[in-house]
Amino acid sequence: EAKRRGRGQAVRYRPGMIEAIAERGHLENDLRHALALSQFHIVYQPIMSLPSDRVVSFEALIRWTHPHRGAVSPTEFIPLAEENGLIVQIGKWVLEQACLEAASWPDEQHLAVNVSAVQLRSPLLLIHVADALARSGLAPHRLELELTETALVEDGHQIAHTLNALRQLGIRIAMDDFGTGYSSFAHLRDLPLDRIKIDRSFVAAALSDKNSLAVVKAVIQMGRDMNIPTLAEGVENADQLDLLRKIGCDAVQGYLIGRPALPAEKKITTQSGLAA
Ligand code: C2E
Ligand code: MG
Ligand code: MG
Ligand code: MG
Repeated sequence: EAKRRGRGQAVRYRPGMIEAIAERGHLENDLRHALALSQFHIVYQPIMSLPSDRVVSFEALIRWTHPHRGAVSPTEFIPLAEENGLIVQIGKWVLEQACLEAASWPDEQHLAVNVSAVQLRSPLLLIHVADALARSGLAPHRLELELTETALVEDGHQIAHTLNALRQLGIRIAMDDFGTGYSSFAHLRDLPLDRIKIDRSFVAAALSDKNSLAVVKAVIQMGRDMNIPTLAEGVENADQLDLLRKIGCDAVQGYLIGRPALPAEKKITTQSGLAA
């Protein structure tokens, strides 16, 4: 905050602010040791293809169990890890673990892994991805990397180069949380993409708000015209699923299809869930 306001601008401390900053410092410090202390694990959420209703893929989502605080949400610690650069090593670990796990799944099941903007800018990403594939033996076409639009804002040329190098390895690229970032349409036009994930805020509102519905429909139609499959995030009820089916969405993900689960529970979900 002080930095943003610039020199000579006093910051007015509100009650609780110092505590909040100190708290953040503690969490960041704990995060530095979390990898070495094996406090992370990965859960997998099913992705169901339409209209076949088959589970075709799983998204890897990191979990951190803090020794005192319990579960800390990735929405809280990933931004911290991005700020201090730890995300590069954490991301490497996720890639390695998730690829190893996915290598034991049936061949037709794919794996999606989130990659942050900071990882994308690091020259290590390509090495980490190639290593994870080599060590696990996972076929590259079974791996999809999910990037958010914010990851794509800076240095378009460098990023297009990295994405092309990744695709030369045979990996797929998805745009995550579509509609929430900046200059979405320029990215759709300029970048090699294999999937568009429509942000769950649009899906959640599609049944009650006609503008949200218009956006969802338009993105699906655009994906169709551009030959890029679309996926709707955050599908929580049958009415939403029916709607998405009707308007031609290619895949869905959300609590209705299955919650993120440990690998052992994931098998049960695939067999007995809606998706079976
Ligand atoms: P995301 O990649 O968009 O992942 C989807 C998030 O939506 C997950 O939250 C998932 O648990 C949640 N979700 C799935 N279905 C539903 C639903 O039906 N309703 C609702 N309300 N939520 C649903 P999660 O696991 O807390 O992750 C949050 C974000 O943290 C992710 O958003 C992703 O941006 C980031 N993240 C998670 N794991 C990793 C990772 O390994 N690396 C990186 N770089 N980021 C990660
Ligand atoms: Mg994602
Ligand atoms: Mg998403
Ligand atoms: Mg999202």
